[in-house]
This record gives sequence, C-alpha cells and structure tokens, in this order.
Amino acid sequence: MPDVVVVGAGPVGLLLSAELARRGLDVLTLERRAERGSRSRAIGLHAPVLAALEPSGITERLLAGAVRVDRGECRADGRVLGVVRFDALSTRFPFVATLPQPVTEAALAQDAPPVRRGALVTGIRTIAGDGRRRVRVQAVTADGAREWDAAVAIVASGAGGRDLVYRPGGVAIHAYADRYLMADADVDPRPDADVAVVTLARDGVLESFPLPGGRRRFVAWDGLGDDPDTGPETRDERLRAAMRRRGEAAAAERVTGATSFRVRRAVAPRLRRGPVLVVGDAAHEVSPIGGQGMNLGLLDAVGLAPLVATWVRTGAAPDAELERWERSRVRSARVAAAIASVNTALGRPRSPVLHRVRSSVLGAAISGPGGRLLAHAYAMGFDSGRHPTAAG
Ligand SMILES: Cc1cc2nc3c(=O)[nH]c(=O)nc-3n(C[C@H](O)[C@H](O)[C@H](O)COP(=O)(O)OP(=O)(O)OC[C@H]3O[C@@H](n4cnc5c(N)ncnc54)[C@H](O)[C@@H]3O)c2cc1C
Repeated sequence: MPDVVVVGAGPVGLLLSAELARRGLDVLTLERRAERGSRSRAIGLHAPVLAALEPSGITERLLAGAVRVDRGECRADGRVLGVVRFDALSTRFPFVATLPQPVTEAALAQDAPPVRRGALVTGIRTIAGDGRRRVRVQAVTADGAREWDAAVAIVASGAGGRDLVYRPGGVAIHAYADRYLMADADVDPRPDADVAVVTLARDGVLESFPLPGGRRRFVAWDGLGDDPDTGPETRDERLRAAMRRRGEAAAAERVTGATSFRVRRAVAPRLRRGPVLVVGDAAHEVSPIGGQGMNLGLLDAVGLAPLVATWVRTGAAPDAELERWERSRVRSARVAAAIASVNTALGRPRSPVLHRVRSSVLGAAISGPGGRLLAHAYAMGFDSGRHPTAAG
C-alpha cells in the first residue's frame, strides 16, 4: 500500500511526488493521460519558486536551460511608458526564468517516482480501519477498475479533477469574457531579446516574452466570448494582424500554430478534507495574464510535502500546521488572482481618451516609487511559499 496517492502528473503533482519521495515516502502518482503533455502553457518561474526548489537541486536544472528576464517594459504608441526592474529587487533570484512548461515538467519529473499513466481517478473516499482514517482511491485503468488505499491522497488534477473533492458549484468560478491568442515563435535577433514587453494598444494588449533558443511567446487580446473557431489559419492570421497593429510586425510573419484561450478565476476556500488535500489549479485558477498559476501550485507543493511526511511518519496529522499552510496558500492565491484581474482589465481595448489616460497613469506609476511595488507584485514577492513550519 502506498503512503500517499497523488492524483495528476502536471507540474504540481510531479513536484509534490518528488518532494515526498525525497523524504522517503512511498508515492503512487496516477495520471489519466497516456503520454506527457507537449503543450506549453506556463513559461515564467518566479523568484520564490526558484528559492524554494534550490535545496533539491531542481533550480539549477531549470536555470540551465532558461532565459533570465531581468526587466519588463510597458509600451504604448511606439514609446516606452516605464520599465519594471526585477534586477532591482533584493532577492537571491532577481529575474523571471522563462522556459516552456514541458521542459519544466521534464526537470521536475527527474526526481519523481515513475508515474502510473492511463489511470483516470474517478473517486476518493475516506475509510476507517485499524483505528485510523485512510483514503481509498478508485481509478479506471487499461486493466479495468482499480482501487488503492493510502494514508493520504493529494489531488493535483488541475481544474478538470476538481469535482473529485468539491461538490458541484462548491468553488465559485468567475469566467472572464476576454479571449486571447497565443503562439511561441522563432524571431530574428533583436536588442530586447531578454526583455519582457507588454504593449498596451487601443485595441487590446500584446504581451511578448523571451523564451530559450531565440524564441518568444506572444499573447494578444483577441475579443470577447468563445473563439469563433474558424480554423487554425484564421487564428494565425488574427494573431499576426494584432501583432502588426501592436508593434511586432516583423515577428508577426513568423507566427504559426496560434491557440485560443479564455481565462477564469477560482480560489477554493478550503484545501483539506480529512486525509484528502488539494493543490495547484485544482484548488485555484488565476488568469494567465499575470503568469503566476503554476508558481502558486509549486509553492503549495513545497510547503505541503514536509507536513505530509510528518503525518505519514508519525501516523498523526499535524492539524495546526496544515491549517496554517491552508490559510497561507489561500491568501496567496487570492492575491495572485487579484493581480491577474487587474492585468486582465488593463489589457482590454479602450476608447482613444481612456487609452491616453491609461498610458499616462501607468507611465507615472511605473516610473515613480510604484515601479518597485509592481516589480515585487509581478515577481510574486508577496508569496514566500513559507509558513511557520514549512522547513523539513
Ligand atoms: C495559456 C496559459 C499560459 C500560462 N502561463 C503561465 C505562466 O507563465 N506562469 C504560471 O505560473 N502559470 C501559467 N499558466 C497556468 C499553468 O499552466 C497552470 O497553473 C499549471 O499547469 C497548473 O498545474 P497543475 O499541475 O496544478 O495542473 P495541470 O497542469 O492541469 O495538470 C493536472 C494533471 O492532472 C491530470 N488529471 C486530471 N484529472 C485527472 C484524474 N481524474 N485522474 C488522473 N489524472 C488527472 C491531467 O491530465 C493533468 O496532467 C498558464 C496557463 C495557460 C492556459
């Protein structure tokens, strides 16, 4: 019988499994997908995550292939409104490290026990036995239905598996109307190769982030409501047109394979139900127009692993510490969700007058003392990932 069953082998489940195995626990990780995902979503790793993963050697591995982005520029109408300096922050990692999510996942997987793939978890029940509460995890696998008992189950299933823990409607979800187009593209060498650029145009935002290998990620506000789904060519063409209008005409010609996405916000108020815990996007979704969702989940995992290790070793749940962990993770998720909401609102199309007002207010905010505060917020300085007893 495993000590812990982890549901989901996304970045958060992989890190959690690795951190538990590093502490000597027998971990079973169940993943519904047969193969590791190849889609790149998260690209930015922030200072608190890099600091938290340093002791296990993962940070060194991640940084070996990452671009270090030490500043971000906010532009409008062909001029720089202000520069957000991550390199001016007093932190051990004064930059945002960018790399594609599959590369991050591969780095995290190196220390994780092998994942049992093709196992769709369908139910988690609490059972009593030997005077202790345990969990029974039910899954459908290629060999048919299977069950595993464990001391603890941790749901890291992303939003898709939220109903394993919460009743339908138990977590309030806010769906933004905004729709975005995104593509990663090879670009010509450019002077701002290591700079994150956010361009505020009258017809919506264009974000452009460095990636390893001379590539960049482009994300453009595209409209309201669902993708008209007129096919991949028109998505590419819409993104190219937005890039041409918003100051990235040369890079626009390199764009192919654009994908469309909508954004949501959800923060579950509780992350624990007896021996079942919830981490990552299963517990909180924040708009990617802020780039902090995966980071939040990785910090959930780093803080939780030592508590679960104590629990399994002693047979007694460290209730007070788990409560502190839960409170601090929910608080961080709410802050990240609020920052993402502001970013999302700032990136919407505006009338000429409101666009001018937005540009001057932002320019003043970034150039003044507020610039340091913005860098602190974007670099997740509000989330140390630590709670009083997270060391261990
Ligand atoms: C376009 C985009 C850009 C983003 N950019 C950033 C960024 O720059 N920085 C950032 O921090 N975040 C970013 N994010 C958010 C980030 O991608 C997510 O927060 C992160 O992937 C969440 O990781 P997770 O492990 O919690 O969930 P997931 O990545 O969703 O992984 C969950 C895993 O669980 C599996 N699973 C689900 N249900 C079951 C089940 N019942 N049984 C077994 N397995 C199951 C799934 O197959 C999946 O592999 C972005 C998101 C998007 C959409």
